[in-house]
Amino acid sequence: MSGTAARVAQSYARAWLWRAAAPCALPVFAGLTLLLIPLAVIGASEASTPAASSVCSIGGTGATVAGIELDPVQMGHAQTIADVAAARGLDAYAATVALATAYQESRIRMLANDGSSTDLTGEQAAVTAASLQYPHDGLGSDHDSVNTFQQRWLAGWGTVAELMDPVYAAEAFYARLVEVPNWQTIPLTQAAQAVQVSAAGGAYARWAPLARELIAMLWPTAQAAAAAHSGAAAAVCPGLPVAAGSWIRPTAGTVTSGYGSRGGTLHAGVDIAGPRNTPVYAAADGTVLRAECTSDYCDRDGSLSLAGYGNLVELDHGNGVTTRYGHLSAYTVTAGQHVAAGTLVGFQGSTGNSTGVHLHLEVRQDGTPVDPVPWLADRGVDLRASDAG
Ligand SMILES: [Zn+2]
Repeated sequence: MSGTAARVAQSYARAWLWRAAAPCALPVFAGLTLLLIPLAVIGASEASTPAASSVCSIGGTGATVAGIELDPVQMGHAQTIADVAAARGLDAYAATVALATAYQESRIRMLANDGSSTDLTGEQAAVTAASLQYPHDGLGSDHDSVNTFQQRWLAGWGTVAELMDPVYAAEAFYARLVEVPNWQTIPLTQAAQAVQVSAAGGAYARWAPLARELIAMLWPTAQAAAAAHSGAAAAVCPGLPVAAGSWIRPTAGTVTSGYGSRGGTLHAGVDIAGPRNTPVYAAADGTVLRAECTSDYCDRDGSLSLAGYGNLVELDHGNGVTTRYGHLSAYTVTAGQHVAAGTLVGFQGSTGNSTGVHLHLEVRQDGTPVDPVPWLADRGVDLRASDAG
C-alpha cells in the first residue's frame, strides 16, 4: 500500500473507529481488528455486523475483589461478560458461572494462542496463531484454545476471528450454558464443566466467591446498559462506580522508564508497557483537549528518528491538571468530549518517537510536567505495583 493509500485507509478506519466508539466502547475492539483488513472489507463489515456492537462494554478500573487484584483490563472483560448476560435476558447467576469459568481459564484475559502446542498440525497451528492478529492481553498455548474462556475453534466454538471478539466469546458461553439441564440449580462447577467439557473439573468452584463479588459490582451497570439498549436511544456507556474526584491506573503493564533526565533532555512522563493494543483509560474525569496524530505519520509504528508523541490524547481535569497519553495505536475519543475516569481513550501502541509498544503517560500541573509516579501515588494509584495476572 502506498503512503497515501495507507493514510486514506487509516483516516477511514479512524472515522469508523470513532463512529463505532461513540455509542459504546466495545466496538472499538472490532474496529481495531479491522485496521488489519483491506479498506473494502472495512466498509462491508460496518454494514453487516451491527449486532455485535449492541452490547455496551466499558473499560473499567482496577479493583481488589474477594482478595484478588484485578486490573482495568480484567475488569473490562468482566464487565463485558456481565453485559452480555444482561443483554440476553439471563440472570446474574449465569454471569457468575461465566466469570468463575473465565477466571479459571484465563484469569479473565483475552488470550491469543501462538499455536505452539505439539498437538496441532502445521495447518492447525497456523490457523490458531492467526489469533495473534486480534487485540489480546495475554498469550496462551493450550491446544487451539483462545480467549477469556479458552474456547477451541477445532471443537466447533467458532472461527478464530469470532472467538477473539469478547462479545462473541461470552455469547458462545451462554448459548451452551442454557442448554445444560438444570444449570440454575446444579452446583456452579458442574454447570461450568458441562459447558467447557474441561478436565479442570472442580477448579471452577474455587472462584465462585470472586465471581459472586464481581457480579455484585458489575451487574447494576450491565442491567442499565441492557435497559438502555432495549429503548430507542443509543446508550452512552455507563461507567463503573468510581468515586468522584478519584484517580485510576490508566493501563495495564510494567513501568519500563521513569520520569527524569535522559541524556540532557527531560523524559517528561512515565512509560508503562503492556501488550500491543492494551486498552488505555482516562485516569480521572475530564475533558478531551486533543486526540490527534502529533507526528509526521501515525498509521504505523514510529522510530527514534520520528519526532512527536504519535497518536496523542490529552485530557483536562480542571484545577490546572492535564494528562497526556502518547504513542497510542489508535484513539477512541475526540476533542471536547467529556470522559469519566475509566473511559476508554485508546490503545497502547508505538506511534511517534518510540521503539516499542507502551503508554507514555504525562501529568502536568499548569502546563509543567511533574513525575506521575509520586503524583499518582498521592492519589492512591501505585503505577509500580505489578499487575501480572
Ligand atoms: Zn515516555
